[in-house]
Amino acid sequence: MSEVQRITVLGATGSIGLSTLDVISRHPGRYQVFALSGFSRLAELEVLCLRHRPRFAVVADEDGARHLRGGLLAAGLDTRVLVGEGGLCEVAAHPDVDVVMAAIVGAAGLKPTLAAVEAGKKVLLANKEALVMSGALFMQAVRRSGAVLLPIDSEHNAIFQCLPNDYSRGLGTVGVRRILLTASGGPFREMPLAGLSDVTPEQACAHPNWSMGRKISVDSASMMNKGLELIEACWLFDARPEQVEVVIHPQSVIHSLVDYVDGSVLAQLGNPDMRTPISHALSWPERIDSGVAPLDLFKVGRLDFQEPDELRFPCLRLARQAAQAGGTAPAMLNAANEVAVAAFLERRIRFTEIASIIGEVLNLEPVETVESLDVVLTADARARALAEEWLYRHGR
Ligand code: NAD
Ligand code: MG
Repeated sequence: MSEVQRITVLGATGSIGLSTLDVISRHPGRYQVFALSGFSRLAELEVLCLRHRPRFAVVADEDGARHLRGGLLAAGLDTRVLVGEGGLCEVAAHPDVDVVMAAIVGAAGLKPTLAAVEAGKKVLLANKEALVMSGALFMQAVRRSGAVLLPIDSEHNAIFQCLPNDYSRGLGTVGVRRILLTASGGPFREMPLAGLSDVTPEQACAHPNWSMGRKISVDSASMMNKGLELIEACWLFDARPEQVEVVIHPQSVIHSLVDYVDGSVLAQLGNPDMRTPISHALSWPERIDSGVAPLDLFKVGRLDFQEPDELRFPCLRLARQAAQAGGTAPAMLNAANEVAVAAFLERRIRFTEIASIIGEVLNLEPVETVESLDVVLTADARARALAEEWLYRHGR
């Protein structure tokens, strides 16, 4: 490949966004930053703009835009600063863009990520919530537009690497029996169950192996992250929920495995550093240096595996139920989880109440067939309202 690839990084100020820019900086002749977005940490976004000189930057509101424009102009940069969801969709679908890194956290990333897919871009998907919410519509849009969708989530990237080149006619046709989705088990894997109701946001965000944004860190602690990933795997690889087994593997060295009918089990291993899946997807089908240290198996020493305990991790059970129910259930699961996690991070609820809120929302709201994006967005709004109602009722 000789032409420079122009990249939009949605969520550039986040953990995945920064890792992406780190990889891009290692290959200046190969990649060029076209647009960067950030909705908080505007000073950091300005520094990133000065370093990468994008054609566009996108921020949350006019105030932020004015501020950023001022800073960039003073530095002699002619970066255009756009605002809000409209701006995000514009830089995601712009005709001059080759690659879009979808790394906004949560439902806020849905429309911009879909815009990139509909414009037929090469889409690097970190924003799992977008796919969980709108799975069927999202995958239809991929097929219709010819977008190239590559998973950034380390597990799905690992599975993709362990599958043959063409599995488009179904996993059964290429001899896959099961997908084994690995999970570290998070910081509370061994904590006595009674202690779980008193854990703090700081404890939940202190992941033993990965450094990540706060929302996904809490999701990892509750294992809702694995639940969302189970749903993500079903859509990406056209698998049924019962074909995806979750395996706790505390070292996070094996990033996932594929079990074939002949008894072969293929795994992808590496140090837990998101620059590996990011580099893999960026350069696919080639390989480039990511800056990640080589895996030292002598240092790793041993690899352990355990069955997940659904009593400890009720969110995993709720996600599996939502995957099986289909329709709007995953969108409601995701929305209720977003409200509950934000409330936990604000110290308004206990860690164990995250699952109580999601369970109640899923029980109250009937599942509908997803026929349009409107149906998804209505289910999302309804689930958020029900979760807020729970908070209100419990005086939080
Ligand atoms: P983060 O919190 O570090 O960064 C989130 C980014 O999204 C920031 O740039 C923020 O400004 C932007 N953002 C937040 N709210 C927004 C809104 N309302 N509108 C527009 N932009 C908004 O999160 P992260 O850890 O980088 O995760 C990003 C996504 O990648 C998530 O969906 C997460 O599940 C997924 N992911 C992350 C990791 C990881 O190691 N961090 C691994 C796998 C998947
Ligand atoms: Mg993951």
